[in-house]
Amino acid sequence: MGFDEDTGSPLFQRKSPVDLNTKIMIAAIISVTTVIFVLTLLHLYTRSVLSRQDHRRRTAILRLLLASAASSPTPKTGLHPSVVAALPASTFTTAEGNETVIECSVCLSVVQEGETVRTLPNCHHTFHAECIDKWFGGRSSCPIFRAEAAPRHPMLLTPEPRGRGAVSRGGDMDES
Ligand SMILES: [Zn+2]
Ligand SMILES: [Zn+2]
Repeated sequence: MGFDEDTGSPLFQRKSPVDLNTKIMIAAIISVTTVIFVLTLLHLYTRSVLSRQDHRRRTAILRLLLASAASSPTPKTGLHPSVVAALPASTFTTAEGNETVIECSVCLSVVQEGETVRTLPNCHHTFHAECIDKWFGGRSSCPIFRAEAAPRHPMLLTPEPRGRGAVSRGGDMDES
């Protein structure tokens, strides 16, 4: 019993400092390496996240620029189909005291009885419904007067076209 204790403890005391030192050394090396490894990983991670955010921001800006560029060079000048459909249409008849010959300024032919016509609400010009619908596919103003064809457009309120619009002024009287 006593022998075991005598030889056991000095052996432990002599051995353990060496063990501890190496253990400390290994632990220190491992921890330092781990810290460096973790720091490197963190650095790489933040850098990739930042660059990804930067890339995302750049693509967002690019997309905005592309969207605005795509929308601007193709301006739709024609009237919206719903606006064209809302324009008053009627069947042309000479029976309602319509003795004046109406010439469609789009196809340059006289409107015949029974043909569907549209009369623009702003200038009261009459055209074939088929012709004026095609016309408004690319334009938004009357083929004759060049006035805006959409009803009650602020263009009407400008007193400017008095000189050139003097002839058709009578038709506009009820509007103003
Ligand atoms: Zn026509
Ligand atoms: Zn007109």
